[in-house]
Amino acid sequence: MDGGDYLKEKLVCCFCGKTIEKKDKMINVSLFMEIKTETEPVEQFLFSHFICIKEKLHSSVPFYLEALIDD
Ligand SMILES: [Zn+2]
Repeated sequence: MDGGDYLKEKLVCCFCGKTIEKKDKMINVSLFMEIKTETEPVEQFLFSHFICIKEKLHSSVPFYLEALIDD
């Protein structure tokens, strides 16, 4: 998947397993893993409901995006 193609797919929240509807606030979770045989990190993109990642993050982890949401 490149560019915005993922927006055409049915997205599933990586924490609760439910479909992310268009009305839902969505978070794109980007993972980068260093592999010794690769020169570039291998990446994977996951998606989450805003509320799900907010609930799962430990309170000691800064969640800067929360300040941008007004509800
Ligand atoms: Zn969820």
